[in-house]
Amino acid sequence: MENCRYCNRTTDIVKIVTDLEVSTLYITRDQAYRGRCILALKEHKTEFFQLDADETAAFGRDMAKASKAIYDAFKPDKINYAAFGDTYPHLHFHLVPKYKGGKSWGGPFELASDPNGSLPEEELAGLIKTIREKL
Ligand SMILES: [Zn+2]
Repeated sequence: MENCRYCNRTTDIVKIVTDLEVSTLYITRDQAYRGRCILALKEHKTEFFQLDADETAAFGRDMAKASKAIYDAFKPDKINYAAFGDTYPHLHFHLVPKYKGGKSWGGPFELASDPNGSLPEEELAGLIKTIREKL
């Protein structure tokens, strides 16, 4: 779909980590939450109920695989999973590692980008490599 970040696989605020069965795992440039990623369905659908049974199962496997890789790579105390999509309705989930005593622990994570959280390219590439090694 035209003007859709995830259909166009644009990388203004995210970088591609890898393609999975029915989704693509992205890492956000904003790493205020270390290891923060986004899992987006490859196909443009806007609601979870629009997936057929096979896609639902495959998306679940992708979610489990991606979140385990994030967990193994960064050892958070909890991963938060969130889907909003008012602005970008293409089905995607935020996978946000949270750390006890760290940013937003015990509450919802902050969706808005942290101006101090954006990592230099080479550091982001290092995080991508770390996640890929855990997949
Ligand atoms: Zn789309």
